Amino acid sequence: MELKRNQYMIDGISVVSIVEKYGSPLYIYDSAKMVSQYKHMENAFKTSRVKINYACKALTNLNVLKIFKGLGAGLDAVSIQEVQLGLKAGFDPQDIIYTPNCVSIEEIEAVTKFGVKINIDNISILEQFGIKYGDKIPVCIRINPHILAGANHKISTGHIDSKFGISIYQIPHVKRVVQTNNMKIEGLHMHTGSDILDIEVFLRGAEIIFNTAKEFPDLEYVDLGSGFKVAYKPDDIYTDIDLLGEHLSKRFNDFCKEYGRDLTLIFEPGKYLVSEAGFFVAKTNVIKQTISTVFAGLDTGMNHFIRPMFYDAYHEIVNISKTNGKTRIYTVVGYVCETDTFGWNRKITEISEGDYLMFKNAGAYCYAMSSNYNSRYRPAEVLIHQGKDYLIRKREDFDDITNNIVEVPVELGLGL
Ligand SMILES: *Cc1c(COP(=O)(O)O)cnc(C)c1O
Repeated sequence: MELKRNQYMIDGISVVSIVEKYGSPLYIYDSAKMVSQYKHMENAFKTSRVKINYACKALTNLNVLKIFKGLGAGLDAVSIQEVQLGLKAGFDPQDIIYTPNCVSIEEIEAVTKFGVKINIDNISILEQFGIKYGDKIPVCIRINPHILAGANHKISTGHIDSKFGISIYQIPHVKRVVQTNNMKIEGLHMHTGSDILDIEVFLRGAEIIFNTAKEFPDLEYVDLGSGFKVAYKPDDIYTDIDLLGEHLSKRFNDFCKEYGRDLTLIFEPGKYLVSEAGFFVAKTNVIKQTISTVFAGLDTGMNHFIRPMFYDAYHEIVNISKTNGKTRIYTVVGYVCETDTFGWNRKITEISEGDYLMFKNAGAYCYAMSSNYNSRYRPAEVLIHQGKDYLIRKREDFDDITNNIVEVPVELGLGL
């Protein structure tokens, strides 16, 4: 993304021209940014045997999965459907780790048929799995190290009352279950949530996992999850991946020596890989001046972009129709019949009705969390790849709203 001749450009294409071509509202992704984020991370850990699994729940478009597959990434999938998408994108089953939470044993059994790696985060499931498969299917165990990571309680998963993982204090019982059923534990995993500000937290978590690893002699990998924070505003803090790489690689290599075998270090970033590669563009329907506030009302709402309302997430908003001139203070809101505010008191270049506004950091958990609330269509998605634009998901239409509705036969007198 760069500003050239007063136009926001992605890989040489003006964002306004893209939205004029495909309509508004629109999600636009920059493949070059995904690639550079991936390479940055790979490079930060180049001295260790590292594998980067893309956490695809952040942005599940099949084309995005293929980009990461092409780079040599693996995949982190949290549902059977994400596993199926990964296989459809061409991932080798053993490059996919299935990390569900509170799903049924039936779903887990169904996923074993695909031959992907299985990560178990519950003792009751571990036991049922062990009784059924014994040493036939190795598994990974998700540990909850009980460290509080990140400032946002809603996206923090490692704390004491979190539903994720098997408590580190339950390891003795885990071992009993494993030994009784002759299970093979091939990996240990932790994911302490999103937006970890401090690399110390990571290193502490890693230390707990390395310690626990000594209890399991058959390990092939250690998966430290994700939680890498990216910048949402110009001077925002973000995880220093190079510094983390430097410290953690060294510690991991030492750990492998202690353990007596070269293991693979796995990470599963979602946000880090795609957040900054995504842009969401919407049109200003109305400017509404009230006694206290100037609202810019857009042709979109929380149905398409819910992070500001759901997580109090800050997303930078710029007027791409007018990139210079005087700025004014706006509260940017959606068209849904709820208070769906994208941003309060934002300084934006003066907005006229019809202007396009662009949200940054719209790659992760944005389209993926969109809905049909208010019976609206979900937006289209466009990928900019090597200087060309590709439609990678069509805008929905009225059929998408009505397709699964089953109308009760008239004879039953509904509504009479
Ligand atoms: C969501 C999730 C991730 C990705 O988290 P980010 O903060 O987007 O990097 C990784 N691992 C698991 C198990 C997850 O549920």
